[in-house]
Amino acid sequence: MSKFYADSMLGKLSRFLRFLGYDTLYRTEESIDEMFKAAREEERLILTRSEKLIQMCSKRNLQNLFISSIEVTEQLIEIKNSVGLNIVYPPVGIRCSVCNGDLRTRNKDEIIDKIPEGTAKNHEDFWECSKCHQIYWMGSHWQDIKKTISEINSSE
Ligand SMILES: [Zn+2]
Repeated sequence: MSKFYADSMLGKLSRFLRFLGYDTLYRTEESIDEMFKAAREEERLILTRSEKLIQMCSKRNLQNLFISSIEVTEQLIEIKNSVGLNIVYPPVGIRCSVCNGDLRTRNKDEIIDKIPEGTAKNHEDFWECSKCHQIYWMGSHWQDIKKTISEINSSE
């Protein structure tokens, strides 16, 4: 399975890749050199919308992919067409959209203090990030995600 390092400007794409189970770092305050170092050591594909960065990657023999679209579904299709993405619904091995940590399943009574009352009433399945402790559940946005996934998978 591919690992990614998304350049700044690709925040939404990073969150989506994590959600789909792809180990994805997102450049926020890291310098370009720090990104290059991590990409090399961890064999990550650099995703960027910058032509200049593509040239810098090529000079350093770092795997890179230029993302031309500004729309996340189209961006995911670009990645799929270039390096392949295995996208299923519901996603397998979801990672934290905030910090890229692994999510672990939690019983409701373990995390009841951390979620809104209505959420506790309406949901049974919860996950907690092993790193930043963010709590996740299958909220209403899952319908949008399902739609995006089927659009990606029906593209050729
Ligand atoms: Zn997290």
